[in-house]
Amino acid sequence: MQIMVLGAGVIGLTSAYYLNRAGHQVVIVDRHGDVAAETSFGNAGQLSYSYVAPLAGPGVLSKLPLWLTRKDSPVRLRPSMSPAQWRWCLQFALACSRKRSEITTRQLLSLSFASRTLIHQMLRDEPQLDFDFQQSGKLVLHRDAHAMQSAVDLLEFQRSLGCEQSALSADECVALEPALADMHKELAGGIYTSSEDTADCHRFCQGLAEILRARGVEFALHTPIDALRRSPRGHIEVRSNGTTLQAQNIVVAMGTGAARLLKPLGIDVPVYPLKGYSLTYHLDEPSAAPRVSVTDFARKVVYARLGNRLRVAGMADIEGYSRRPDPARLAALRAETAAFLPKVVADRGEVSEWTGLRPATPRGTPIIGATPYRNLWLNVGHGALGFTLAAGSAVLLTSCLENRADPVPSNAFALQ
Ligand SMILES: Cc1cc2nc3c(=O)[nH]c(=O)nc-3n(C[C@H](O)[C@H](O)[C@H](O)COP(=O)(O)OP(=O)(O)OC[C@H]3O[C@@H](n4cnc5c(N)ncnc54)[C@H](O)[C@@H]3O)c2cc1C
Repeated sequence: MQIMVLGAGVIGLTSAYYLNRAGHQVVIVDRHGDVAAETSFGNAGQLSYSYVAPLAGPGVLSKLPLWLTRKDSPVRLRPSMSPAQWRWCLQFALACSRKRSEITTRQLLSLSFASRTLIHQMLRDEPQLDFDFQQSGKLVLHRDAHAMQSAVDLLEFQRSLGCEQSALSADECVALEPALADMHKELAGGIYTSSEDTADCHRFCQGLAEILRARGVEFALHTPIDALRRSPRGHIEVRSNGTTLQAQNIVVAMGTGAARLLKPLGIDVPVYPLKGYSLTYHLDEPSAAPRVSVTDFARKVVYARLGNRLRVAGMADIEGYSRRPDPARLAALRAETAAFLPKVVADRGEVSEWTGLRPATPRGTPIIGATPYRNLWLNVGHGALGFTLAAGSAVLLTSCLENRADPVPSNAFALQ
C-alpha cells in the first residue's frame, strides 16, 4: 500500500517505521524542517510502562479549587471562552471515577507492555539507534508517611496488573541512588520499579528518521497541511500550500494539530493541549545527578538522566494552544530542582528550557485505527505517554490498516 503519514513526531515516525517494515511505501509530511520539532522534542524521557494511570482518577476533582487558585500547583486550569476547553473539562470530569480509571489503566497497560517488548526488540534489530536509552528503573519518592502507606497499599493491585514493584525505606532509596543523599531527611520512602527505561525522545526520532531515509521512506518537510478534503470519489485528500497531495491511505499523527483538521470532515477527536515544561541540565559533574529515573510524587516533577544531561519535567496547564512559556512556571521548576538536587544546580552547567503541548484525551486513551473514511486512519491523543506508547500504537495501527487481528484489543482505542 502507498501510505502518507501526516506528522513527524514520535507517533508519526514510529508508525512509518512499522508500516515500512510491513512492506508499505511510506511518505512522511510535516510543517517543520526537521523531525520531532514539537512535543516529541523535550519531553521527560520516561519509558514509563508501569505508570500509565490516567490523570482523570478518583479524588482528582477535589483538587480543582487548588488548580484554579494556586500558581504553583502542578496542574493549573486557566478557564477561557473556548468551547473545546469546556467540553474537554466536562468529559474529563465524567472520566474521574474509580471504575473508569481502572478500565483505562488496564487498557493502557496492554499497550505499554506491548511497547516495552517492541522497543527492546527494536534495540536488537537496529543497533545503530543511539538515543541515550537506559534500563534505569524508576523510583517514585514520597515525602510523607501517609502518602507512602497509600502507595504501599496499591502494590498488590499493581502486581495483579503485571507491574513488579517494591517498597523501599528512605535508607534503601539513598543506597539505590546515592545522588539523593541530601534529600534523605525529607523522605518517607519510595516505590521502585526495575523494569522502567529512560531515553531521549528527540534523538530516538532523529535516529528513526535516518533509518527510514536509508530504507526509501520519503520526507516532505516544510509542508504545512492546510486542510483535509473529501474528493468527489469519497476519498480524503491533503491540501498544502494550494496543492493537493494524494495517497492511497493517510495516517493522521499530528498531535495537538489533528483536531482542527479533522473537524470539517465531521470527525470529532477530543484532543486538547496540556502544556508542560522541561529543563535540561548539561552536567559538568555527572556524579551529582541520579542515574535511576526519579519522580518526586508530591511535587509531580520527574528527573531522568540522558547521558551527560539531566532532564527535569513537570506541570500540566490546561490553558489552550499557545506554546509561549510562562516565566513563572519555568522559575518554579528551577526552584524545585535547586531544592531537590542542589549539587546539580550548583554545578552551573548550561541549562536549556522547553515548553510542549501534550495531545491529551479526557480519559487518557489514544485514538488509533479507522475513521468513517476508507483511506483515513488515526494515531493521535497520546497525552503524557506518547514516547512510552509509540511502538505499541504503531503496531496496532499497522494491524488495523492491514485488517489483521492484534494482540492488543483495538476496540479500546477505536474512534468513538
Ligand atoms: C513536559 C512533557 C513531558 C512529557 N514526558 C513524557 C514522558 O516522559 N514519557 C512519555 O511517554 N511521554 C511524555 N510526554 C508526552 C509525549 O511527549 C507526547 O505524547 C508525544 O510527543 C506526542 O507525539 P506526537 O507525535 O503525537 O506529537 P508531536 O511530537 O507534537 O508531533 C506532531 C507533528 O505533527 C506536525 N503537525 C501538526 N499539525 C500540522 C500541520 N497542520 N501541518 C503539518 N504538520 C503538522 C507537527 O509539526 C509535529 O511535528 C511529555 C510531554 C510533555 C509536554
